[in-house]
Amino acid sequence: MPKLKCTVQTCAHNSQMLCALDAITVGGESAKDARETCCDSFQQRREGSMSNVNQSASDRSEIDCKACECKYNDQCKCEAGAISVEGSTAKQAEGTECATFECGCHS
Ligand code: SF4
Ligand code: SF4
Repeated sequence: MPKLKCTVQTCAHNSQMLCALDAITVGGESAKDARETCCDSFQQRREGSMSNVNQSASDRSEIDCKACECKYNDQCKCEAGAISVEGSTAKQAEGTECATFECGCHS
């Protein structure tokens, strides 16, 4: 289970730069670049809602990843030791990305 850090504080699941979900889905089936990936589990934090201070977030999550061009992707599981999800101003999943994505393709 990779370590997961996330800078997307506009996401309802974010708790002090960690993700409160035990499992997330990363999208980007044909991604050749980090910008083409996204965290499909993103959920916009509602305007005015309190930050999830009481939410206990572990620093690891199961990652189901559709970005099969990534060199860390092994049959939709992420085999990187640690990943970083970014997109500090994201309003929707498309505004996020897995910054650890590295293309394993040579074409
Ligand atoms: S954007 Fe994804 S990784 Fe980040 S807190 Fe939200 S669900 Fe978790
Ligand atoms: S590092 Fe690669 S395999 Fe792991 S979540 Fe990011 S894009 Fe998917």
